[in-house]
This record gives sequence, structure tokens and C-alpha cells, in this order.
Amino acid sequence: MIVILKQGTPTEEIEKLVGIIKNLGLDAKITEGTGKTVIGLVGDTTILDGKKLQANKYVEKVMTVQEPFKRANRRFKQEDTIIQVGDKKIGGNTLTIIAGPCSVESEEQIVGIAKSLKATGVTALRGGAFKPRTSPYSFQGLELEGLELLKIARAETGLAIVTEIMSTNLIDVFERDVDIIQVGARNMQNFDLLKQLGKLNKPILLKRGLSATIEEWIMSAEYIMSGGNDNVILCERGIRTIETYTRNTLDISAIPIVKKLSHLPIIVDPSHAAGLAWMVDPLSRAAIATGADGLIIEVHNDPACALCDGQQSITPEEYKELLDKLKIIAPVVEREL
Ligand code: PEP
Ligand code: MN
Repeated sequence: MIVILKQGTPTEEIEKLVGIIKNLGLDAKITEGTGKTVIGLVGDTTILDGKKLQANKYVEKVMTVQEPFKRANRRFKQEDTIIQVGDKKIGGNTLTIIAGPCSVESEEQIVGIAKSLKATGVTALRGGAFKPRTSPYSFQGLELEGLELLKIARAETGLAIVTEIMSTNLIDVFERDVDIIQVGARNMQNFDLLKQLGKLNKPILLKRGLSATIEEWIMSAEYIMSGGNDNVILCERGIRTIETYTRNTLDISAIPIVKKLSHLPIIVDPSHAAGLAWMVDPLSRAAIATGADGLIIEVHNDPACALCDGQQSITPEEYKELLDKLKIIAPVVEREL
């Protein structure tokens, strides 16, 4: 439910209303819009009599919200959420480009890639230390050693680091060491993990589940936000469809839909969507042209020898060529790169 207050409602009247709402066991999220104050009610609002609220002389309108997500809802907060990571902003006018290998393999590999990305231009460095693999016999990542190598790459380049968390066990280590915590597609509905991440004050990159609807995906963001962490970045990474040519099908419609439904930033992962290196370029351009807030791209110095996802990894040289093309598209969609 959303309560829109009349222009010029005194602060003490807003506080009184919030008090009434909180006494009913609901949470109230206040947004100051252009001259208007909007109170978003979170919780089981079925107990509330909207007519009674409407009777308050400072209330202009009471609206019920159909969607099950509240904090992530654009109706609760009209302006785009902008997430600060060091001196970089995610969301808003600036495009975010996160790049790096699927997994951290050695100090030489991760520091080398980080340095070439830094020279070309990048927002943050990605690299998996804990890898969710379909087969238990595949390379599972360097785990804590991989995290240490990412920290070395950060120290050498100043780039923020993005890496995937697989379980709640290492949440303290991730909170201390990682700049953006990635929740992978396979963990999108690991509700226990989402609840724990909700208690942190860290940006969370939430990938869309393999077969998750947009509503289910935003509800997972809602889990994190309901714990008090509003720093959620959504990531469309392709979904399961009947098509087998590509690894997944990039759901380009998710970009305008998420933008309409939510104020959270959305970035696109063309690498896992296509599963093919040659498609990273056109899908990246499509994503930016459609209004995505950025990209997360797999870049490897030697894709043929990569321990994970080499077939979909582009080289640092191809990354540079792609960035040059994106610089042409960015101003057309009123973005900075
Ligand atoms: C990854 O980013 O390397 C990854 C495993 O992605 P996803 O969770 O989207 O499959
Ligand atoms: Mn990968």
C-alpha cells in the first residue's frame, strides 16, 4: 500500500502517521518526491483499513500495490537507485562495466588481466574463487587462495573486486574482503543466504536464476532489501529456453521490464547468456542500447587454456574493441562511459 501525502504536510503529521503505521506492526518507507511525500507500507497490509487512512486530512491518496515486492518497487521509490562502490557509481547516468575471467587461476593471470582491463577502462574486476560447477569433477575454483589473489589484483590496480559467494559459511570473509558480492544464478533462491546478505551494508550483484521469472528474481532482491540492504544490482544472464544454439537465451525484454517495475540498477551478462565468445559483442551492444545500466563480461588472456568458460571468454584486445563500440552507443542512450 502507498500513501501519498498532500503538498506541505507538516513533519510532525508525517511522523504521527508513521507512528500509527508502525503500531500496526508494519514498516513505513518514506520517499520525498517533487513536492510530495510518499509513504510506502511494507508488511501484511491486509490488516489495514485504507479508508481510515484516506480520512486523514493530510492524505491525498491511498493506493494498493499489486506486485508482491515493495522495497524494490518503482512505485515506492521513483528515482533510480545509484550504488556507490569506492569512487564509482552503479546506476544513474554512468555505465558500469565489470570484466575479468570466469575463475581466478593464478596471480600472474588475474593481475595481468586486471592491469590490461584497467588500462582500457573498467568499473570493477570480476573473478570466481568459489565456482558453482555442474560436475563435481570440474575445477571448483581456488577458493580462499583465489580470494587472496583477487586482493592482490585490487592492491596492484585499485580496481574493486566482484566475486561469487556460494554459502553462508564465509559471509564474514566476504564482508571484509569483497567490494561487490555476487549471488550466482544457482543461488538466486537460496533464501537463507539472501537473508544473511540483507544484514550487510555491501553491494550485492544478484543474478537471475536459470528458470526464474522476473517477479521471482525481484522477490529475491526483496529478500535482501527487507533485511535492510538496499544495495542490490540485478543481473540478467540468460534463461533456459527451447533454444540449444546458445547456452541460454538472453532475455533482452527483462531490461525495460525491470526498469519499469523497479528502481534497482540492472546489468547484463552476455557471456553466460550466449556461451559463445563471438556473440558477446552484439549482445553487449544490444543490452546497452536497450537501457541496461552496464555489463559483466568474461575476459581471459588465453581463452583456449582457461580452466572455466573459455569458450565464452573474450580477450583483452577484443574487450578494447568492444568498449570502443560501446562508447559510440552510450551518448545515444544518454549514458556516460
Ligand atoms: C559466473 O559468473 O561465473 C557464473 C557462474 O554465472 P551464473 O551464476 O550466471 O551462471
Ligand atoms: Mn563463468
